[in-house]
Amino acid sequence: MQTRFLVLGAGFGGLELASRLSDAFGAEADVTLIDKSDGFVFGFSKFELMFGRATVSEVTHRYGDLIRPGVTFRQETITSIDPVTRRVTTDRTTHEADVLVVALGAEYDPAATPGFVEGGHEFYSVSGALALRDVLAAFTGGSLVIGVLGHPFKCPPAPCEAAMLLDDWMVAQGSRASSTITLISPLETPIPPSPDASRAILDHFTAHGITYVANQKVTRLDPEAKTVHTDAGVTYSYDLFLGIPIHRVPTVVEESGLAVDGWIPVDETNLATRFPEVFAIGDVTTAIVPKAGVFAESAARAVASHLIDRVEGGAQFRRFDGKGHCYIEFGGNRVGRVDVDFLTGPQPTAPFTQPSPEVTAEKAQFGATRRRRWFGG
Ligand SMILES: Cc1cc2nc3c(=O)[nH]c(=O)nc-3n(C[C@H](O)[C@H](O)[C@H](O)COP(=O)(O)OP(=O)(O)OC[C@H]3O[C@@H](n4cnc5c(N)ncnc54)[C@H](O)[C@@H]3O)c2cc1C
Repeated sequence: MQTRFLVLGAGFGGLELASRLSDAFGAEADVTLIDKSDGFVFGFSKFELMFGRATVSEVTHRYGDLIRPGVTFRQETITSIDPVTRRVTTDRTTHEADVLVVALGAEYDPAATPGFVEGGHEFYSVSGALALRDVLAAFTGGSLVIGVLGHPFKCPPAPCEAAMLLDDWMVAQGSRASSTITLISPLETPIPPSPDASRAILDHFTAHGITYVANQKVTRLDPEAKTVHTDAGVTYSYDLFLGIPIHRVPTVVEESGLAVDGWIPVDETNLATRFPEVFAIGDVTTAIVPKAGVFAESAARAVASHLIDRVEGGAQFRRFDGKGHCYIEFGGNRVGRVDVDFLTGPQPTAPFTQPSPEVTAEKAQFGATRRRRWFGG
């Protein structure tokens, strides 16, 4: 009997894994890919939405267009996962798997931070970014504070990118001169593994009058007084607050018993969980590497090589390398790149390439190549 692969979540990790299994086994691959959404949206597209530069349908890659041989996509909401029997229940049916891969990402819990739902905004979800578009359009200037509410959080450079893009946008709107921009982060530097990238970002902040507050996490907002409070006991005033909400595993993962201390622990080499034939990749796992699409993708590569190796042999297995290119928006359509390698050497390395038209063009290609590889056609 053929191996039945069941991939939960069609985000960065799930799409990469399904397309690699399809490449290896063609029409014989028995891959079922489940997601509750009707399409995939890149994390960085949320910037396009919040500045009103694209509509949701323009940035959504519809799963209905996915035509990879051997891959069946099902739009269903997963309601329970039994990692022992590898049985998964959805709002439509029950699926059984020989190999189960959990790629359900991280969810947000805005209500976990007192005052945030009443007094703040976020751009990490599609709905949040869309709602922010109207708020930004009405913002005529004042004290703008961007704050990180919990750790770990997706894409550590994203709050810095937001600050630089907002600076640029406010200059164009004519509201920058009457505004301040402050970023409050639990990280000591914008990108801890890359001193060069951190320096470039902080130099940009200095040149553009953006304040970086390091080693502090926002713990609550007082929407009446319009103040932000941090775990260091410091208070900041705001007119507009943008928060990076506390992240959690989806409830269905929490209830499955897969998570320990909040996230799914995995074997660092091949992403196996402690349950036989159950793997987990991407943001849903314990932090071996930061939560970012490029690392979900490299985790998917490792799992795919392990599964293909078991069927075809030939020493195909490549252990998880924690490698990825992270693109950083500096505003003004200037994009830099950090080439991160977390796991292959004794220390993580992350050389930085300064913003240039070449890197900006490369980032545009990054999305296009994924779309072709994941969706086919
Ligand atoms: C503003 C912003 C900018 C970013 N920029 C970058 C960047 O430049 N580069 C980069 O590498 N990363 C970036 N990221 C991070 C990146 O988007 C995530 O880290 C990445 O998507 C994680 O991949 P994943 O496969 O683990 O999870 P996801 O891509 O989040 O996929 C999880 C999937 O599971 C589905 N799901 C969840 N629960 C259920 C359920 N119960 N039933 C069915 N389906 C379910 C979801 O619908 C989702 O499609 C950014 C993120 C943000 C917010």
